[in-house]
Parts: sequence; C-alpha cells; structure tokens
Amino acid sequence: MGIWILNGLTVDANNAQAKKHIFIENDKIAQVLDASESSAPQTDGHEVIDAAGKLVTPGFIDMHVHLREPGFEHKENIATGTRSAARGGFTTIACMPNTRPVIDTVDTVNYILDKAATEGVIRVLPYGTITKNQLGRELTDFAALKEAGVIGYTDDGVGVQSAQMMKDAMALAASMEMPIIAHCEDDTLVVGAPVSEGSFAKKHGLKGIPNESEAIHVGRDILLSEATGVHYHVCHVSTEQSVRLIRHAKQFGIKVTAEVCPHHLVLSDEDIPGLDANWKMNPPLRTPRDVQAVIEGLEDGTIDIIVTDHAPHTEEEKAKGMMLAPFGILGFETAFSLLYTKFVLTEQWTLGFLVDRMTQKPADVFGLPYGTLNVGSIADITIVDLETEREVLKEEIVSRSKNTPFIGWKLQGWPVVTIASGKIVWS
Ligand SMILES: [Zn+2]
Repeated sequence: MGIWILNGLTVDANNAQAKKHIFIENDKIAQVLDASESSAPQTDGHEVIDAAGKLVTPGFIDMHVHLREPGFEHKENIATGTRSAARGGFTTIACMPNTRPVIDTVDTVNYILDKAATEGVIRVLPYGTITKNQLGRELTDFAALKEAGVIGYTDDGVGVQSAQMMKDAMALAASMEMPIIAHCEDDTLVVGAPVSEGSFAKKHGLKGIPNESEAIHVGRDILLSEATGVHYHVCHVSTEQSVRLIRHAKQFGIKVTAEVCPHHLVLSDEDIPGLDANWKMNPPLRTPRDVQAVIEGLEDGTIDIIVTDHAPHTEEEKAKGMMLAPFGILGFETAFSLLYTKFVLTEQWTLGFLVDRMTQKPADVFGLPYGTLNVGSIADITIVDLETEREVLKEEIVSRSKNTPFIGWKLQGWPVVTIASGKIVWS
C-alpha cells in the first residue's frame, strides 16, 4: 500500500506555486502529478491524505540540534527528541556531540546511530567532536569517525580556543573533504555573563556577553579556512560583526557557510521580560541592531540556512535563575510557525524563501540527498496548515523539556502531517 497526498500546494525557492498530487511507494516519491492538468488519480488500495488548502514541502532539515543522549536523558533522548522534531515538521536532524560521553569515538557514533534506528522516528545524522572530550587539546580520529558515519566535526557548546588546534583540524578535515562546524566563542571575552551586553544587562546590573566574543572567532576561522581550503560552517550567527565578516569572506570566494536560529531572528535582548532563564541561550539574544543584521544576512545569502539549536533543559534546571541556569531553549516545535507568522504573513519573505532555507538549502550546503520532492527521492514530506492560528501550549510540547520563551504566542503555519522515509511519523 502506498500513500497519495492529493491537491497539496507546493512551492519552490523562487516562490513558484502549484497544486500537486504526490504518490509515495515504500520509502520513495513514486509520482508527482500537476493537479490542475490531470484528473484525480486512481487511489484504490492506497492511503489517501487530502492536502487541499495545505502546503506540502520536503521534510524540514535541521543541521544543529541537541538530543542530549547519551548522558543527559533527563532533558531529552533520541526517542523524545526525534518525536519533537517530527511534530515540528523535521525529517532530518544533525545532532551535536556535546553529550556524555561526547561523540568522539566510533563506539559513541555507533550508539547514536543504533538508537536512532531503533527508537527514533526520523533521520539522525551525528557530528563528531573536533577535540577529544571537547577539551581543545588533542584532535579526535577524524578518519575513524568519518568511516563510522559522522557528517562533520564540531566542538559545539564551546569554542576551540587555540588557533593552531583549529588550523590543524581544518587542514585534516579539508584533506578528507569534510566540513568544520564552529561554535564561535572566545572564552577570555565571556567572563561568566548570562546575557548579551545591552540594555537588559544594564537594567538588571548583569555582566554582558560582548559581540566580539563571537565575531573574533568568526574572523580568525575565516582566515584559517582560507589558509586550509576547508568548508567552514559558522554556527548560530547572532551578531552584526559576524555577518559583516562572513559577507566579506564570501566576496573573496572563501568556502564559508553559516546558519541562524529563529530566536535570533525574532527576539532581541529588549524583549526579555525579566529574570526568566527560558530567555537564556548561547549565543544570547542580542541588540535590535544585531537582529536586523542577521535578518539582512539571511535575506542576502550571507547566512545560508535556518537551524533551531534545539537545546532542552528541565524545568528544575531552568528554575535556578538567570545566573545559574544552563544556556539553551527548545527549537523544533515552533521554528516554522514562528518564522511563517513573523516573516511570511507580514510579506517580508516569500513562502518559497522560508521553505528553501529549511529544506533544499541545508541539503545543498551539507551535500545531503534530501530536501526535494523530485520523483525517485526519499519520501520525506511535511504537510503544513497555513491558515489556523494556534497558541503555543506548554502541555502540547512533545519534547521531554519545556524550556521555551514562546509559550502563549499565537502562531500560524503548523505542521500537521510529517512523513519520514515514506512513514507517517506525526499527524
Ligand atoms: Zn553552540
């Protein structure tokens, strides 16, 4: 038995829209018919999903997520994290290696891949760390990790402090045609601050994380990328200075790509309502000027893709207050609806632009065979209700954790069916 998705609205990167009938057989897209030119297909014996009035897109791809397993299963695990992702319309996610143990050995990569295959509901692609135990002192065995299935190397959660270590990592990764993915943060400039430098920090007498702590690594790593020829990908860009440096690097043909998170596109430090750690993440919410810069960076192609940096923490952990609570917020379940409501409904972006930055573009940046609705491709498909406005409710969150600043927000653009490798994993 296959699945027919009838009369759904599809959109491409140029925002060309069409009504299509799509047939899924096993794990592949077997047929795509133009609904305006063909009569209703013969659907006897197959499951039928009526997608009239709904958007049908390739499953969303999120190249930056924290699933917390192994080691922090009280926050999230692969079973709950992939279900939370499926609810958000994601069918491929790339998990960060700052687990315990960290993903720095073949055994841990195998553990992730086995768990994802047996307990997960969507595709999980692991990153391996750049340095052993993420301590910044000794490179991991890049070749063995690649052989085991990692798609790149990153010490996300912390910056690689030594320029020489980063240069060695880039040279090795370049020789293997693998990317280096960097959390950019200079520890000597951070000084234990919980929020960004800006009006919120001033008002509450808090130390602030300066923009340079991110941008100084971006600038350093761009030069190292130029020297080594590696594909260098910048994590969660949040500052005006970083955008400027990446834009300049791209003009020089340096192989740099970059990502931005929904919260850095829709919130500034001035939106933080009080000392509530559900508004604490790293990088922090920056000034309105930075928000404007990352929006422009995404719009002009300086920033390539949208990622969530889904970072679950328990309510007990977040209740420790702005200074002591860990950094990070949930991302999967509100990503598309937030951006659809804030940027597409307001006509700042086209629907095609938003969909492209969450599907085809991330696939292109990382050379993945997903993110399209072409006949013969893997059947990763998300159906989105663009019409119904719904409130973000804490009790509906699928993630094991509930740490999001968006509870109570009224949004449109909710994924209603998620199909991963031909299987319905959320509806
Ligand atoms: Zn990070």
